[in-house]
Amino acid sequence: MTKMTRRQFVAGAAASFAATSIPSLHDRAPDVQAPAQPAWPRQVRRIGQLNFNEVDPLTLDVNAWADYWASLHMDALVIGFGGIMATYPTDIPFQHRSEFLHGRDLTGEMVAAARKRHMRVIARMDCNYAYQDALDAHPEWFMRHKDGSPRLELEAAYLFKTCQFTTYFTEQMPAIYREICKRYAPDAVFTNGWPGTAAIEMCYCATCQKIYREQTGGVPPATTDARSESYRRFYDVYMNRVIEIWQMWDRVVKERDPEAIYFGDLGGSGLQMIKDLKPIGDVSSWYAGDHQGRVGNAPIWDCAAQGRIAQSVMDGKKVSNIAAAWSYNSPRYRHTSSPQAEMDLWLAQTVACGMSPWEHWLGGSPRDTRWKKPSQEFFDWMAANDAHFRNKRSLAEIAVLYPQRTIAFYQSDGTGSRKLNGSQIDPEDYLQGLYSVLLEHHFLFDFVHQEKLCAEALKPYKVLLIPNAAYLRDEECDVIRRFAANGGSVMATFETSRYNEWGDLRGDFALHDLLGVSYAGNFPDGVIGPFGNSYMEIRQSHPVLAGFEGTKMLPGPEYRVPVTTLRDNDAVLTVIPHYMNAMPELIYPRITRTNEPSVVLRQTASSRVAYFSGDIDRTAWKSGLPDFSQLIANTIRWLQSGEEPPVSVQGKGIIEIFAWETEAGFAVHLLNYTNPNMLRAVVKELYPIGPLEVTFRIPEGRTIRRARALRSGQQLDLKPDGSAIRFTIPSVADYEVVALT
Ligand SMILES: [Zn+2]
Repeated sequence: MTKMTRRQFVAGAAASFAATSIPSLHDRAPDVQAPAQPAWPRQVRRIGQLNFNEVDPLTLDVNAWADYWASLHMDALVIGFGGIMATYPTDIPFQHRSEFLHGRDLTGEMVAAARKRHMRVIARMDCNYAYQDALDAHPEWFMRHKDGSPRLELEAAYLFKTCQFTTYFTEQMPAIYREICKRYAPDAVFTNGWPGTAAIEMCYCATCQKIYREQTGGVPPATTDARSESYRRFYDVYMNRVIEIWQMWDRVVKERDPEAIYFGDLGGSGLQMIKDLKPIGDVSSWYAGDHQGRVGNAPIWDCAAQGRIAQSVMDGKKVSNIAAAWSYNSPRYRHTSSPQAEMDLWLAQTVACGMSPWEHWLGGSPRDTRWKKPSQEFFDWMAANDAHFRNKRSLAEIAVLYPQRTIAFYQSDGTGSRKLNGSQIDPEDYLQGLYSVLLEHHFLFDFVHQEKLCAEALKPYKVLLIPNAAYLRDEECDVIRRFAANGGSVMATFETSRYNEWGDLRGDFALHDLLGVSYAGNFPDGVIGPFGNSYMEIRQSHPVLAGFEGTKMLPGPEYRVPVTTLRDNDAVLTVIPHYMNAMPELIYPRITRTNEPSVVLRQTASSRVAYFSGDIDRTAWKSGLPDFSQLIANTIRWLQSGEEPPVSVQGKGIIEIFAWETEAGFAVHLLNYTNPNMLRAVVKELYPIGPLEVTFRIPEGRTIRRARALRSGQQLDLKPDGSAIRFTIPSVADYEVVALT
């Protein structure tokens, strides 16, 4: 089977599109024809993993574990093989064998047990570390600090970090793969921890020094900083190497079985993706998110958010996410159970956004088994309703641009932070702010990935929301312009299109014509801020100001780009500049009115465009003030031009919504985040919401006769309402799925 394109996926199985590929704007990945990928990964619905440890061979009851995973209706088991440590009697030099094997082949036993229970076998490998004997024999395999010393694993002074540019990746790992494929014929090979999505680490090994000399401009960049020319080149060299290795390993595992696949680990960093996911999505037949739980102040929706990014680069191919049954938060506890409510909500998000859940426990002799019962209940329920989780396409008509370049490079050191007039900025806060507003106001939306932005990718959508995509290519701006010219509506914030894709500042917004503004300042960072106590003055009545009766001004964003409008009457809100906010006697505006727009709203025959000159999305997130979220939500509704959305949900609560066309019909997923621990791990208890009134627009040519709430098991009454149906969900504890057939 050839790789499925977005268009084929969107069209669903019934349509008859010929195999087409999406025109790509920028093919930096090596232009290698990927081998045909098998269809079986999409049939894998549920995945279980017991991570072996070194002493497990002494005591592990293979059949008991295999029975447990089979009882959860797992279609695939992830089984420890090797790399760092082999749990089978390997003959490959420098692949450390578990010291407690004592003649046992733990891997082989588990492979046999999985096959006996009709589960596919995924070989878990780790290519990231090796032992002292490997360092002595092959010093060239390892990452080096600037002083030449090898890099150590922080907790284990005997494990050394390998470098992806060396023959460890092109010779040693393939040798191990050939051995395991010959002996055990796994269906897939997966590498833990590589390539990941986090910031690129600099290495000073001999191979990397040579790469710097020959490909990136001589000296390794001192920091991973997108303002450095050599880092820019290195970023591309690095990503190309990831793709080269990925494809090579895929070829190696296919040598004996063309149906076998390789796939890597795509990390757990929520909205923050530094590595470019587009080329990985292009060559991969399986996206394995490794977002096992959340830490500290990460919002509860972090799992679904990452799932949306994964979907935006995979075009309907397999996406899964590893969920921890252990306590993930910091400090972390690898051997006690995750609180049930947090774990359930994490698994629910995984499923709701179309990922396959991959449940994970560490070590074969748990002394805490509290995680087993909730896992059993969740997976039983999921398996019993499987047809409703087989998605064909999303029904969303709002696209949110995932601004990969801004998030990866926003004048940053490559670790995902920016100094803006001396203040630390997290580039994903703009998107995070918009995301929170979309949940607060019950919008149905998808992500569209910047690196895959093209007319075809935007085709299913009527509205495009751009949360400060400061770094945009000219070609991407053209795609956005054409989307609007063809009737699409657009909202953009703050520095959108002020820079090219690497962060070179433009004289004006590349999208100045579409947004209806021009840059009108002369500031070092191009922006004004950070300032509290600045405001937006209401200058006209307008639908985006609904609910603001009783005030003539609203709080202003913390930062803004000074702009002028191309047409005077487009400004609905104008800037009242910040003034002193410390000494009450002096707190009054020196300037009471300006013509500097805070928001510019424009309308052509069929398209509406809204531009906010401030970081209103980020300020909504930082301040938590409902004035910002209300204004953004009103603006999105205005962009929808009064059309009924595919799904609307009335009722109180912070709710994330997904709606899918499924193999069985349609499914509306509602995740209830209304919880005191929504913004701080972990959820301890659930606070049910409801009743919720749902209106579902029936897609053309389809009929719907039944609505069943799959979590509560209730049949819901359907009320016809023109081309829509309405139904009431009495209560949602954490998650409900309404199957419409
Ligand atoms: Zn290196």
